[in-house]
Amino acid sequence: MSAQMQAVIDQAEQDLLHTYNRYQIVLDRGEGVRLYDLDGKEYLDFVAGIAVFALGYGHKKYNSALKDQIDHIIHTSNYYYNEPAIHAARRLKAVSGMDRVFFTNSGAEAIEGALKAARKYAWLKDGRQDHEIIAMNHSFHGRTFGALSVTGNPKYREPFEPMIGHVRFAEMNDLESVRAAISERTCAVILETVQGEGGIHPATQEFLQGVRQLCDDNGALLILDEIQCGMGRTGGGQAMFAWQRYGVQPDIMTTAKALGCGVPVGAFLLRGDAAEHSLVAGDHGTTYGGNPLACRAAETVLEIFEEEGIVAHVDEVAPYLEKRLDELKAKYDCITDRRGAGLLQGLEFDRPVGPAIERALEGGLILINAGQQIIRFVPPLIIGRAEVDEMMDKLDRALTEAFS
Ligand SMILES: *Cc1c(COP(=O)(O)O)cnc(C)c1O
Repeated sequence: MSAQMQAVIDQAEQDLLHTYNRYQIVLDRGEGVRLYDLDGKEYLDFVAGIAVFALGYGHKKYNSALKDQIDHIIHTSNYYYNEPAIHAARRLKAVSGMDRVFFTNSGAEAIEGALKAARKYAWLKDGRQDHEIIAMNHSFHGRTFGALSVTGNPKYREPFEPMIGHVRFAEMNDLESVRAAISERTCAVILETVQGEGGIHPATQEFLQGVRQLCDDNGALLILDEIQCGMGRTGGGQAMFAWQRYGVQPDIMTTAKALGCGVPVGAFLLRGDAAEHSLVAGDHGTTYGGNPLACRAAETVLEIFEEEGIVAHVDEVAPYLEKRLDELKAKYDCITDRRGAGLLQGLEFDRPVGPAIERALEGGLILINAGQQIIRFVPPLIIGRAEVDEMMDKLDRALTEAFS
C-alpha cells in the first residue's frame, strides 16, 4: 500500500466513528464492474456496494440523467409535487402490481414506514394498542429502532434494549413456528423473501404460500422485505421482485439498495386494503424522501432495467455462476453448502471466511461475507460469463492461499 493511501486510512480512523472494521483499501473510482483504489489497483467487484450498483459503475444514461436533474432541481419538499417522484412511482407500481408508493432515504426507513402502516391498519380495524408483529430469526431489516426490533439477530439488538416491543420471532421456512406465534393480535408478519445478511436463505414456496394463508386467516398483513433480494437480483423472467416468482403477493413491500443504484432512495409500497386503510395525511413524513434527485435516479434505473432487459440477463448468467460455485464446492471440503437465487448467492464454509476475503482482495477481487462462515455473491447484475470465470479463478486462488 502506498504511504498516501495509508495516510487516508489513518485519518479515517481518527475521524469516523468506528462502527465498521473496514478492509484496508480506499476506493476511488469505478468503471463497469471494476473498482480502483487510490493507488490505481484494479478490483473485480462482486459486491456492488452490497447489492446496490446493479447497473455497474459509470452507466452513461444513468449519469447524464442525474447531471441533468442536478441542473434542474435537487430538492423541493413533500408539500409540493415533483415529476421524478411521480414517474418513479408509476414505474414501481407497473413492475410490482402494488397500488401506492412512499419514498424513503434508506432501507431501514422503508421498514419503519411499513411497520407503522401495519400498526395503523390494525388500529383502525379494532382500536387495540397491543398489536404484535411476527418476524423471522436470522432476519435483517436495518439499524433503526423499529427495523432493529424485527431483526432476528440478538447480537444486534441486545445492547439497545428495550426494542419497540410486541415482536415475536418465528423460524424461516418453518410454517408451524409461524402458526404457533400468530393470533388475532398479530398485525403483520415481516420477512425477507430471500434472507440476505442472515446467510442467503430463500423462502420455500410452501412456506411463503403458507404464511400468506396464515395472514389471511388472521387478518394480518404480509410485509415482504425486498431491499436486498429485489430489483431483479433473483431473476425469473419479468420478475423485478423475488416474491413475484412465488405467485404470492404481499400487502406491503419494501425496496431500497439497487433502487437508486447508488443514490440513497428506498420505498415502501402498499396494496389493496393496506393502501386504502392505513397511513393518511399527518401520519408519516420525511424531509428528503422522494426528492427529485433520488427519484430521478430510481426512475432512470427502472427505465434502464426495461430497456436493457436486465432481469433476462440475470436469468442467463446466474445458472452459470451457480454451476461454477457448485464446482468449487466439489473441490474444497471446507465448503459445506451453496444456496441462493439468481445473482444473490452464498457459499457456506465450515470456518470463518474472513481470511479468504482478505486474500481475494489482495488478488484484486472484492467479496463480502454474510455472517461469519458464508461468502456472499451480489455482483452488479450486468456481469457476464467472462467475469464469472475471472472471479472463480481469483476465488480459487484465494481459498488455496487462505485454507491450505
Ligand atoms: C440492507 C438491508 C436493509 C437496511 O437498508 P439500509 O439502507 O441499510 O437502511 C433492510 N433490509 C434488508 C433485507 C437489507 O438487506
